[in-house]
Amino acid sequence: MYLTQRPRRPPIQIKTLLNKLQPIKRFVYVAVGLEEVGGREAIVADIRPRKNSRARCSGCGHDRPGYDRAKDPRLFRFVPLWNLDVHLRYHMRRVDCPGCGVTVERVPWATGKHACADAMRIFLARWARRLSWKETATCFRVPWDTVRRSVEWVVRYGLQNRDFTGVTALGIDEVAYGAGHKYMTLVYQIDSGSRRLLGVVEGRTIKAMLRFFRSFGKAHCAQVKVVCTDMWHPYIKVVAKKLPNALNVLDRFHIAKKLGEAVDQVRRDEAGKLREEGYEPILKNARYCFLKRAANLTARQGAKLKDLLHYNLASIRAYLLKESFDAFWSYDHPRWARWFLKNWCARAMRSRLEPIKKFVGTLRRHEDLLMNYFLANKEFNSGIVEGMNLKINLSIRKAFGYKAFEVMKTALFHQHGDLPEPESTHRFCR
Ligand SMILES: [Zn+2]
Repeated sequence: MYLTQRPRRPPIQIKTLLNKLQPIKRFVYVAVGLEEVGGREAIVADIRPRKNSRARCSGCGHDRPGYDRAKDPRLFRFVPLWNLDVHLRYHMRRVDCPGCGVTVERVPWATGKHACADAMRIFLARWARRLSWKETATCFRVPWDTVRRSVEWVVRYGLQNRDFTGVTALGIDEVAYGAGHKYMTLVYQIDSGSRRLLGVVEGRTIKAMLRFFRSFGKAHCAQVKVVCTDMWHPYIKVVAKKLPNALNVLDRFHIAKKLGEAVDQVRRDEAGKLREEGYEPILKNARYCFLKRAANLTARQGAKLKDLLHYNLASIRAYLLKESFDAFWSYDHPRWARWFLKNWCARAMRSRLEPIKKFVGTLRRHEDLLMNYFLANKEFNSGIVEGMNLKINLSIRKAFGYKAFEVMKTALFHQHGDLPEPESTHRFCR
């Protein structure tokens, strides 16, 4: 039904669209039709070389005279259109290269022997950042392995082409993964305005860390001004050795975590002892009352904590010590912070709680590094590393099915590495 008379427009053809969106130098789209491919209706675009154009040798990249042409055409998966699969179809030529012998030609829309066009691989990799790899595979009707290889290709390109200029602040963090006590070390850039994952290191040994910083490069190491780490000895040692101009700040998030673990140990020891002595289990279900910060407790946990405060329990003494430590971070002047630390440690030692005393020992051993927080103008607070840590942990849980470390590493870089993407001639990619 036409309401008004409109000027006639030429009908649009898919071939025209393809020429507009994915022009291929030295090749032309011959025909585009609807065909059955693998039991499904799909759009198939036939490609042939432009007249008199020479084929490019896949060995050396030079244009060489043609030798012959494959009898059977090859299909390349392309970006789908209106939920229809799209394939590019082409008879590959072979070239006679004086350097490489007879080789198959190199085509500009697909790299290597991949059955997907580059534009499709970038397309899949982008979706794989928003969906799981499995969902991506299902949505676009490709094997899971095609998604994995597309992501790997994009990530490999990104890692080779990323730029480390301007990295002045790093965060180093350990994350447990898989079954058992396997650890990996993550290195982040935590400069304000540019936060990304820089390194995924298997394990948390000195050797593994040294290897990372070697690949990071001496010049970039020299640019780093601040590093946030926890008190893990190999990290501190490698930072001191490899980052000569950096202030090593002990991260507030990690110290709070360590102290929390000490309090939890006190509670567990005490709960066990009370049980042995036949007292009713008042400490049962109290774990989170002590672990969480008071402000974050639920009403029920708050009531439980209030109830517990009536008893002279070791757990309560430990809890109160933990809460009072928070004040340390609020000092502006390092001198007063140091004074507070000294007093707090003395008080904690008098508590005669073994896990707490152990924590004090750790703090005392790292006192200078602890004070660096104030020298760095309190700029790098717990929020940054903690936030990255949460995001990564979420990804690891999502990626748990990947199992192999290398695949997980690829997934993490893809998600959090802020990597540059391969170039594509396809216009609607970007
Ligand atoms: Zn060649």
